[in-house]
Amino acid sequence: MSESAQPASALSSPRFCNTGTFMRMPRVESARGLDFAIAGVPFDTACSYRTGARFGPQAIRAISAMIKPNNVIQQVNIMEDLRGGDMGDFPIVPGYIHPTYAAIEAGMTSILDEGAVPIVLGGDHSITLGELRAVAKKHGPVALLHFDSHSDLCDEVFGEKYNHGTPFRRALEEGLIDASHSVQVGMRGSLYDPNEHQMAADLGMLLIPNHKVRAMGFEALLQTIHERVGDMPCFLTFDIDFVDPAYAPGTGTPEVGGYTSWETLELVRGVKDLNFVGFDVVEVAPPYDHAEITAYLAANIVFEFLSILAAKKHQA
Ligand code: MN
Ligand code: MN
Repeated sequence: MSESAQPASALSSPRFCNTGTFMRMPRVESARGLDFAIAGVPFDTACSYRTGARFGPQAIRAISAMIKPNNVIQQVNIMEDLRGGDMGDFPIVPGYIHPTYAAIEAGMTSILDEGAVPIVLGGDHSITLGELRAVAKKHGPVALLHFDSHSDLCDEVFGEKYNHGTPFRRALEEGLIDASHSVQVGMRGSLYDPNEHQMAADLGMLLIPNHKVRAMGFEALLQTIHERVGDMPCFLTFDIDFVDPAYAPGTGTPEVGGYTSWETLELVRGVKDLNFVGFDVVEVAPPYDHAEITAYLAANIVFEFLSILAAKKHQA
């Protein structure tokens, strides 16, 4: 590996200097020769309540300067085992979802064609549809592993088909995800349609709401996820509102009664054996954050995911 692929060390360069990329990694123009590429998708105009996730990528990148490369729990050094860089943000068009989808698909395709794993920083959850279009073009329909307090399976919101409440309904219709290997975890809160969870089952999805996760426990949950996904190519999409707003207040549509930061990191580490082909963390809305805690958690979720990739590469 070349010297230029290394992030700056905080022992010689203060963490608040030269920020702007994830973990102050090198800014790259393409994913050529990389194992993973970070990309921002600062689009938030498909959000139904509080906007602000357009500032998610820059907030996550800024506080990610606190993260060091060694993960002592997963026992890897992500920059020793992986080559990675930050491609900046895809050229989204605020307020215009279809040109934005085209930009996301093109950017994702450029990463996937180089054989790198895309790591996307959102943005509201509508963006994941654009990502999945590129991922499915490369890998065929993938298993979706979806952490969220919402199912995002609505058919329409405000009479519109493309919204942060609809991406996975569209992904199913477009054949981008394989429902029979997909899992949605953590759904909670009040609903318009009391049969929403049954609707997910009718679409072939396995939706495990928050109250059932609490009843079954994490060990049984992780076993269920592994049995369901198997060795299918898997895309992990992480909506930060999965986490309790006490730990992640900076988000557009919060739901109380969620998970702690520690539980969240434990769950991400717990799915390390799956065959991941892509990842995103979405719905970080810095205008509603306090002391950057939401953005910092999102950065650490990315770090745990990168550690999973590093451990796989290390074993290979
Ligand atoms: Mn969502
Ligand atoms: Mn959500």
